[in-house]
Amino acid sequence: MQDIEALIADLVAANHILSAEHVVDAFGHISVRDPRDPKRFFLSRARAPELIEAGDIMEFNLQGEPIDGRGRQPYLERFIHGAIYEARPEIQSVVHNHSHNVIPFGVTGEKLYPIMHSCAGIGHEVPIWDIADKFGDTNMLVSNVAMGRDLAARLGTGATALMRGHGCVVAGRSIRHAVQIAVYLDLNAGLQMRAAALGKIKFLSKGEIDAVNGPGVGSERAWEYWCVRAGVPYRSAGTPGL
Ligand code: MN
Repeated sequence: MQDIEALIADLVAANHILSAEHVVDAFGHISVRDPRDPKRFFLSRARAPELIEAGDIMEFNLQGEPIDGRGRQPYLERFIHGAIYEARPEIQSVVHNHSHNVIPFGVTGEKLYPIMHSCAGIGHEVPIWDIADKFGDTNMLVSNVAMGRDLAARLGTGATALMRGHGCVVAGRSIRHAVQIAVYLDLNAGLQMRAAALGKIKFLSKGEIDAVNGPGVGSERAWEYWCVRAGVPYRSAGTPGL
């Protein structure tokens, strides 16, 4: 039980960090898979991430049904999370956000690629999912299991995907990993737009991306820094890695 409490505390911290780093605003969310049952995940009730407390965290099955709702209102787009956990057994944490810098890429079809070493976690390239391809005119929200699964299929085996006219998703091996990629996905998008205005970009090569993403990549230092910036207690993961 102690481990679950610590996991929930990290999930609450992650919500505050993503808000402090301007990856989410009133909207956007992060979840974590339940280590006791891989067919369940934890996600806040529908609330702005900066305001989330441990009592807001709900548990869902992979179809997005609450395990213990207690009258709490879930996020409409919880299906994003369940579908990615269903498709990707190795993924432990999922972020969905509408960060501003990613939007121009999703609507133009201009591909995002890692532009600097710390952004290598976004993957070799970032696919774009267009909800209209399969579902026609919608309110753009991933509001059922079928939509979630279609998005998860576009994500494929990668860490990130853009959602046309909406935002993006990030899939990580841990809460820390997903937060780090989400922060650097937005940074990469901003830098890529600025560099593109100057001239032709030399992105990281495939080998460089693989080398950065190899064993030993650690985000504990970043996690401690982000906790302090967000004003939430820092809890060591106990290992220097992810
Ligand atoms: Mn959304």
